[in-house]
This record gives sequence, structure tokens and C-alpha cells, in this order.
Amino acid sequence: MRDTPEQDVIVVGAGIVGLAHALAAARRGRRVVVIDRDAQANGASIRNFGFVTVTGQERGRVWERARRSSEIWREIAGPAGIRIEQEGLLLLARRPEAAAVLDAFLATEMGGQCERLTPAQVRSHCPAARSVAAGLRSPHDLRVESRTAIPLLAAWLAAEHGVSFRRGVSVRHVEPGRLHCSDGEYRAETIFLCPGDDGGALYPALFAQEGITRCKLQMLRLAAPGWTLPFPVMSDLSMVRYLGYAALPEARALHLRLRAEQGEEMAQGIHLIAVQGADGSLIVGDSHDYAQTPDPFGSEAVDAMILREYEAVLGPAPAVIERWTGTYASASSHSIVRDVAAGVRLIVVTSGTGASTAFALAEDVVGEVLDSERKPACTQA
Ligand SMILES: Cc1cc2nc3c(=O)[nH]c(=O)nc-3n(C[C@H](O)[C@H](O)[C@H](O)COP(=O)(O)OP(=O)(O)OC[C@H]3O[C@@H](n4cnc5c(N)ncnc54)[C@H](O)[C@@H]3O)c2cc1C
Repeated sequence: MRDTPEQDVIVVGAGIVGLAHALAAARRGRRVVVIDRDAQANGASIRNFGFVTVTGQERGRVWERARRSSEIWREIAGPAGIRIEQEGLLLLARRPEAAAVLDAFLATEMGGQCERLTPAQVRSHCPAARSVAAGLRSPHDLRVESRTAIPLLAAWLAAEHGVSFRRGVSVRHVEPGRLHCSDGEYRAETIFLCPGDDGGALYPALFAQEGITRCKLQMLRLAAPGWTLPFPVMSDLSMVRYLGYAALPEARALHLRLRAEQGEEMAQGIHLIAVQGADGSLIVGDSHDYAQTPDPFGSEAVDAMILREYEAVLGPAPAVIERWTGTYASASSHSIVRDVAAGVRLIVVTSGTGASTAFALAEDVVGEVLDSERKPACTQA
């Protein structure tokens, strides 16, 4: 048996959702153990754009959580040695219907501090941009390189917050206060399960009941284009996917036009996110294919459509230098938070927004659970 002191917290999953819970628990003085079956980070959290998207998130609580999460990223990035690669967002409206969505968005509380750009202003920020009807520049968003940021975050949690990691350990069965794992039993008063889209292996009935499926995305890295992309870029197709725009009444006309003009892209859930890393290379995506068990194969036709969208927005595409797919848990809600046994809470982000919202979600979840418990005898800053 792996005995951990009674007051300790166990987090299962070392993706961004698990690490965010570890941080929130450690900040409340708890000693935290993180268990992950993989030897190193390999899930959605290192396959993503690292785009901490505030602008365009669903209005209300999700948008507020994204704002709070971006604050936490900014706060911990320096101490954890994580480089913020880009700050802000440039949303490019190619069609008049998209410009109308952009204007409607700017009129909401979410448009605060965002700036409307004329086509000339867009080109002054981003000379590569093709013809646009209007642009929006937001200061709220940021981007990290997830494949290095997630390991750096874990290393900082260990060094600064005393979080210990048990990697290569698989959780097989959960009971109140107890985990049956591949290398024995672990105990703690409080357990947060953050298994991402693999949670269905532990809780198949709950996943079925909540309608949680998987979403597969195709991603590309393009060689450095020889110019700087000042901000992450999104475009018209993004405005019918991201609920902060898509739920506005003005999005209806854009939706109809895109269905008529880009029906194939819409069917594949394609929209454009283009971000740039320190070496100048661009990460470009993505597509959305929903299935309980998506196939593992990247479709060349889908990649070609993503590249066509890139070229329509940013001009000739540099060579593709890397391709990968990733999956995340998907349902109609932002996230599922359930008590699955006494002292055991399951947390799954089901909207493909973990990098953008997990820190604030974890603050809420951990605060609710731990603040109602007695304080531990032994605390840690
Ligand atoms: C291609 C792609 C692009 C994306 N782009 C963005 C983006 O730009 N911005 C954004 O906000 N979001 C983005 N997302 C979504 C975001 O990446 C996810 O919402 C987030 O990473 C989910 O984090 P997680 O910790 O739940 O899952 P994961 O990162 O998958 O981590 C779950 C961990 O749990 C472990 N685990 C599971 N079961 C067990 C078990 N039984 N025992 C032990 N360990 C277990 C796994 O090994 C894994 O390490 C993207 C996702 C993908 C796939």
C-alpha cells in the first residue's frame, strides 16, 4: 500500500486539468501527489496550440474563467520558466457577414479593451493578411508552446510547491479515499480525477449518460514563413464555432453563407487558428471529427482544406514540417464535475478549452472541496 498522510490530496492525470488542480490544492497548503499512467505528458495538453483563448469563449462563466485562467498563466509563466510566445488575438473578418459578427461582439461586455481594425490597420499589424473586411484585436489572449510548457509547469509544481509525481502508474479502480493502481494502493482524504477523454475507461456509464464522446483534431506545423505573426490569428470559420461569437444573432447570416461557400470545411469542423513559435514556425489547424473511438489516421484531404483556409487568410503556405492528431473529451457542456465517491471528484473539460479555462475551473473546484474540509495539520506555502 502507498500510504500518503490523511490530509494529502491525490490528483489523477498530469495534463493541464490535473496540473491546475495540483496548483490550486498546493496553494491551499495541501501536500499533493499527481499520478499519471504515462512516463511523460502525451495527451491533449501537449498536442494543442497552447492558445489561451479568452476572446470568443462562451459568454458568462466560461469567458470569466478564461480571463482568470489567462491571469494565472501570466502570473506563473515567469517563475515556471514558461515563455509567453504571443499575446493577444487578431480576428480577421473576410466577409461582410463576419464583420457584422465582429461588430456585434464588440458591442458586448466581452468586447471591452478590444479594438476594431480597418483593412489598412490589419495590414499594418499583419502584412501577410489577405483581403479582409475588418479585424478585431484583443489584448486578453496569450499563447505558450504546450509541449515545453506542460513539462515546465510540472517541474515547477514539484520544485516550488512540493508536488510529487508518480508517473507510469495506472489507476484501475476507485473507492472512497483509495485508488487501486498498477503498482499498489494509494490513499488520501481528497482525490481529484482528471483523466481527460480516457475517463470513460474508469466511468463508462457516467460518460455514456453525460453524452461524452471524443473529438479528433488534425494539426500541422509549417516552416517559418520569414515574417512575424504578431498575434494568434483566427478567421470567419472560427466565428461560427466559438460560442462567444456563434451565439450572437448576427452569426446566423455568416453561418448560412459559410454553409453555402465552405460546406465541406463546415462538415469537417474546420476553422483556422495560426500561431507562431520562437523559431518562427507556425502551428496551424484544425478539424473536428466526433466519435466514441475516432480512427487514428490523418486525412490528407482534411489537411489540404486546412491549408486552403490558411492560404485564403495569410497567403502562400510554407512547407508542412510536422503533422499530428489529438483527441479531447467532448459534450454539449463546458465541463463535467461529478462526485463519483465520497471525497472523490471527477473533472473533465468537455469543450476543447482546457488550456484556456482549467486554472480557473480548478480554483473553483478545489476551493469548494478543500475549504469545506478541516485545515491540515501540516501546511506548505
Ligand atoms: C489538437 C488539439 C488542439 C487544442 N487546442 C487548444 C487550444 O489551443 N486551447 C485550449 O484551451 N484548448 C485546446 N485544446 C483542448 C485542450 O488541449 C484540452 O481541453 C485539455 O488538454 C484537456 O486536458 P486534460 O488534462 O483533461 O487531458 P490530457 O492532457 O489528455 O491529460 C489527461 C491525463 O490523464 C492521464 N490518465 C488518464 N486515465 C488515467 C488512469 N486511469 N490512470 C492514470 N493516468 C490516467 C493520461 O495519461 C493523461 O496524461 C486542444 C486539444 C487538442 C487535442
